[in-house]
Amino acid sequence: MLYRIIDAGDVPLLIRAFMDSYELVAPVECDQGHIFDTIDDPNDVVLDYSTTIASPKKYFLPPREILFKFDVAQNDVDAYELDVKPRVLFGVHPCDMNAIEKLDSVFLEGPYPDPYYRARREATLIVGVGCTPSQSCFCHRMDADEAPAGYDLFLQDLGDRFWVSISSVAAAEVLEESTTLREATDEDRAAFAAATRRRNEAFSSDIPFVQDVAMLMDTYHSDPFWAELGSRCLNCTACASVCPTCMCFDIVDELAFDGKTGERVREWDCCTNPQFATVAGGHNFRPSERERVRHRMYHKLNGFKEKHGSMLCVGCGRCVDACKTGINPIEVLKFFDEKTRGAHDAQQGKGATNGE
Ligand code: SF4
Ligand code: SF4
Repeated sequence: MLYRIIDAGDVPLLIRAFMDSYELVAPVECDQGHIFDTIDDPNDVVLDYSTTIASPKKYFLPPREILFKFDVAQNDVDAYELDVKPRVLFGVHPCDMNAIEKLDSVFLEGPYPDPYYRARREATLIVGVGCTPSQSCFCHRMDADEAPAGYDLFLQDLGDRFWVSISSVAAAEVLEESTTLREATDEDRAAFAAATRRRNEAFSSDIPFVQDVAMLMDTYHSDPFWAELGSRCLNCTACASVCPTCMCFDIVDELAFDGKTGERVREWDCCTNPQFATVAGGHNFRPSERERVRHRMYHKLNGFKEKHGSMLCVGCGRCVDACKTGINPIEVLKFFDEKTRGAHDAQQGKGATNGE
């Protein structure tokens, strides 16, 4: 890994240079907060944002996309064509870079990589940026507060200058051509460490650290907690829409009015949608809110880990803000914290009794 320092005033030059060859997507301000959007003017980019309302996953997995067109009369499928633009995602936080790595493990690994996802992923450079956590952020509890890989450049704001970690040749060439680079000094390294420390100290102390979350999901699978959490669910699916790692989709064939031609379409779906687990014949494998909400949390905090080695939640906090009835992984962590404290206190009490 190569590290360099650039002046803060060089960042718009870097963005402009990327814009010469790529579509540039970055955080911008809107009425409700910040969103990722295509940039026309480098001055519109906001790098000191806390969290965007929705994640950048739509740039790899669009909410709705045509997979292919078909002609029933001819019994034929049109050749697959995908229009992919070279793109730079600029200003991505470590939690979202970790989320993209998790999407990669689903859509790129295994015997059947997804060609649609892969084409967009391969055409995209990622420029990360260090963050300042909001009160909803808990990436440090999900092991996603650092992104050791998954970016082409990573920028850390040091005040009047940026620390730049460089990990790809394509991005390094643009950086070299557009900015004045210098070697990092001991003062820069100390400033980098201080910025990391400030970030770590900004996390809410109300969000507990819980060991073995995945195991506890099994331990308390039948607890009444899930019925209470489920009773609040409105089935609105806002949680999955904003989540950087929710990747479930449905596939539908849409026939044209001529009844002969049509399109196969992939669109986002969500396991809190009441119809999500309904199969042919009308049977629903998860008919209640309790089962659906528990399933969503189970996949995030247990099921994915079993298959891919890490939890699926990256603690970005978006669903904490999006769910209007307060259903989110922080509630689950607090529940486990309470339960394990109760178990710990009971053990202590028993020990004291035995010692008497
Ligand atoms: S958990 Fe919250 S955001 Fe998700 S579907 Fe239920 S009410 Fe909506
Ligand atoms: S479950 Fe919530 S906190 Fe976790 S990654 Fe998804 S949106 Fe972020």
